Amino acid sequence: MKKKKTAPGRGKAVGKARAARRPAAPAKAHPLPDALRGRKVLGKGDGFRFGCHSRLSCFTSCCADVNILLTPVDVLRLSRRLGIKTGEFIARHTLTPVTKDLHLPVLMLRMGDAPDKRCPFVGAAGCTVYEDRPWSCRMYPVGMGIPPARAGEDPRPVYFLFEDGFCKGRAERAEWSVERWRADQGVAAREDIESGYREVVSHPWFIGGRQFDPKRMEMFHMACYDLDKFRELVFGSSFFARFEVDDPLKAAMEKDDDALLRFGFRWLKFALFGEPTIKVRAGARVTQG
Ligand code: SF4
Ligand code: SF4
Repeated sequence: MKKKKTAPGRGKAVGKARAARRPAAPAKAHPLPDALRGRKVLGKGDGFRFGCHSRLSCFTSCCADVNILLTPVDVLRLSRRLGIKTGEFIARHTLTPVTKDLHLPVLMLRMGDAPDKRCPFVGAAGCTVYEDRPWSCRMYPVGMGIPPARAGEDPRPVYFLFEDGFCKGRAERAEWSVERWRADQGVAAREDIESGYREVVSHPWFIGGRQFDPKRMEMFHMACYDLDKFRELVFGSSFFARFEVDDPLKAAMEKDDDALLRFGFRWLKFALFGEPTIKVRAGARVTQG
């Protein structure tokens, strides 16, 4: 929806199946979540044709009744775009699906309550939050899955092509590789901020089907999604009396949400998995996974 020559997916939709576009957390028992199984895998040299613009008859039709999983940066950018706290955004605009396949909490963008279930951010001229649209909306028709952790292996993202019949963009002439599409959609910087998040969700700790207890689930939810609440923990408690954090980093986190989010992933690795990613002050008492 926005007027950009090759504007992507505003839509994203995973089609009639209404599957999730970007599984943020790996499934437990299978190599990839259901939504991506059976899809066409895009290898390094594979290309696809796609274009999206307001002259297509399908324009914005994909911004309804679709499952869009939100990443931490998606939640942060959309909250700031709307000028509300992350907690308010989560309460107003997200759902937390519960399925037996998910071992971590995920957030899904809540569609409108009307029967057509339109995205709350779609307008007549397209996406009204285009510059801050979620990863899935940027990358459609490409989806990504992060396989579950395996001993001795770094989890690498697997890319898929959604071949939805309703999407006329598939007949456009522009040709793309995954890498060129990623560059066009500006996802690399966002993914760099989230690199620690991917390390958490694919952590070897989960090998064998281990599950977080409710307390750890809550810690994960706060640091990944409810950044304003995490900010209160860091700056409004005895956090710095318990952990050694140097002044430049403290200052960066105070004024820069992205720095705080990156730190949150470090803290999760310490608190959930017992990794030495944060230094505990001598004599301080802290709880760890
Ligand atoms: S966020 Fe924007 S691009 Fe994504 S579904 Fe909503 S309106 Fe469409
Ligand atoms: S071309 Fe595809 S992504 Fe673009 S508006 Fe149409 S259905 Fe949505």
